[in-house]
Amino acid sequence: MTGGDRRLVLATRNPHKVAELRDILRDVLTATGLELIGLDAFPDLEDVVESGVTFADNALLKARYAASATGLPALADDSGLAVDVLGGAPGVFSARWAGPLAAATGVPVDEANNTLLLAQLADVPDEHRGAGFVCAAVLVVPEQPGAGAGHEVVRLGECRGVLARAPRGRNGFGYDPLLVRPDGRTLAEHTATEKHAVSHRGQAFRSLAQDLRTILG
Ligand code: IMP
Repeated sequence: MTGGDRRLVLATRNPHKVAELRDILRDVLTATGLELIGLDAFPDLEDVVESGVTFADNALLKARYAASATGLPALADDSGLAVDVLGGAPGVFSARWAGPLAAATGVPVDEANNTLLLAQLADVPDEHRGAGFVCAAVLVVPEQPGAGAGHEVVRLGECRGVLARAPRGRNGFGYDPLLVRPDGRTLAEHTATEKHAVSHRGQAFRSLAQDLRTILG
């Protein structure tokens, strides 16, 4: 980062994630004058293999690469569903829980994941169906020549609920139709604004917003 450069890169090529994060971080971006950009601005960068075994490991892998390749402070996140009775699985394997073979069936990946998870839990009684979405949000600030050491901060967020016996709701993505919140609605029955207010990602990045003010404000 050169003097006066207020860009902050989010380690994703997904424009929806950039828009969502601009929304969640609106106050801190306005207060600090930081401009959030995605990796689309850097087409030559490689995709990072998410080889970590925790959400924090994977988020750090993505943010460290984005920071070192661009010289800019970088944000990244990694998230998934942790089911109590499965010891925290699918966890970091949430995106592909139904496996690569599921793709060959033509069933959309989210639907295949949800169907498999419900089948695995078919005999689990209601009182043992607790689960939560977990998000690790990280900030990596590269070392600046003459401007001090770098920083690495990890913040976690969790959104707890109970797993339904069948999907419900049309909003959101992934396992949203399965996680029933204390008010009786699944996350897929929440509006985007309602979900941001309670979501694992919202909590983790709202916590990281304090670090952005302290370190880059
Ligand atoms: P990512 O790390 O945000 O890309 O999430 C990895 C996977 O976890 C997604 O493909 C989903 O299956 C699941 N997941 C993460 N966040 C959510 C959420 O907010 N709702 C539903 N599923 C999620």
